[in-house]
Amino acid sequence: MIASPPREFSYEPLPGRVVFGAGARHRLPEEADRVGIRRILVLSTPEQRDTAETVAASLGDRVAGIFPRAVMHVPIEVAHEAREEAARLGADGFLAVGGGSTVGLAKAIALVSALPIVAVPTTYAGSEMTPIFGITEGGIKTTGRDPRVLPRTVIYDPELTLSLPASLSAASGLNAVAHAVEALYAPDANPIVSLMAAEGIAAFATALPQVVRDPSDLAARSEALYGAWLAGSVLGSVGMGLHHKLCHTLGGTFNLPHAETHAVVLPHAIAYNAPFAASALARAARALGVSDARDVPGALYDLAVAVGAPTSLAAIGMPADGLDRAAEIATRSPYPNPRPLEHDAIRTLLQNAFDGTRPVR
Ligand code: NAD
Repeated sequence: MIASPPREFSYEPLPGRVVFGAGARHRLPEEADRVGIRRILVLSTPEQRDTAETVAASLGDRVAGIFPRAVMHVPIEVAHEAREEAARLGADGFLAVGGGSTVGLAKAIALVSALPIVAVPTTYAGSEMTPIFGITEGGIKTTGRDPRVLPRTVIYDPELTLSLPASLSAASGLNAVAHAVEALYAPDANPIVSLMAAEGIAAFATALPQVVRDPSDLAARSEALYGAWLAGSVLGSVGMGLHHKLCHTLGGTFNLPHAETHAVVLPHAIAYNAPFAASALARAARALGVSDARDVPGALYDLAVAVGAPTSLAAIGMPADGLDRAAEIATRSPYPNPRPLEHDAIRTLLQNAFDGTRPVR
């Protein structure tokens, strides 16, 4: 079928090398050589310190030190401490082993030092593929884009995701699906990004239920991580809309957990946009195995239920009396979205997400 209206787009691929495969972590020494890192600072959360040390062990005396204090949303105080540690050790690059919080900390250091990051992601959040950073100061998270924070090399090793608990895997996977679905209707969408987005959704739709059934299934873990790479790539390439805005608001203002908030809000945000993004969402429908774009919100809700992810904001700590404020913040300033931002309809969307009702056509 010939595209109608005629195609029109611009596309600027991001630089960055990706090494993917079971056991790929063992290629870290050659990848560090390729980037030219001689004194690497290893970053992790406290819980993943052992994993990070094990991954970094193959680097031998090129490990300058470890900073195992990454936490969610990159508080500025932690960023300062990590920057000071990097300077004290004379680090010439960073190894981030972990999820979005750890990669986010590496980005906060690279932002001021312009030193290279090698990322070894262990969740499906996708930060490793984006030039987007976020730093939280005084309870407010500021985000921005800077090419210096885009990891130089990303090593995806599904064996490192085997330990990600089923509940975190489910929420993190839906977080990634959210990047891919919103990429399909992004104002700057382009054919490559849309191919990657649809493939990413399909990978998760197939793999995530199996990951949750059997977290030790390496083939399913590999397919989910492949989806995470695709979803992270599109997140880094095109602008996100209402869904990401709502999640940013809910996470920042009400301190709701990042991945779980994405899992809950996604079906409702897409239900809001669906009538205005029918052809873009037709690709999501195919990827999810439903025949009509209008069934995408319901299919996303069913996927969340199938993988045991939370389906209501009430269940993840949202106060009922915060919904008005959330609607107000999310509609305060304009941003690109297929459907214009209508305060009352967004308030209804938030109520539905709070109650956890399944969206219908
Ligand atoms: P996270 O990095 O906070 O990880 C959650 C928890 O899971 C941590 O305790 C971590 O140690 C643990 N964990 C991670 N991988 C594990 C594994 N394989 N086995 C066992 N435990 C594991 O969570 P996240 O959802 O990956 O990242 C969320 C953060 O990333 C948020 O701050 C979000 O804003 C940010 N983010 C940024 C971007 C971007 O492009 N800048 C994109 C996505 C997310």
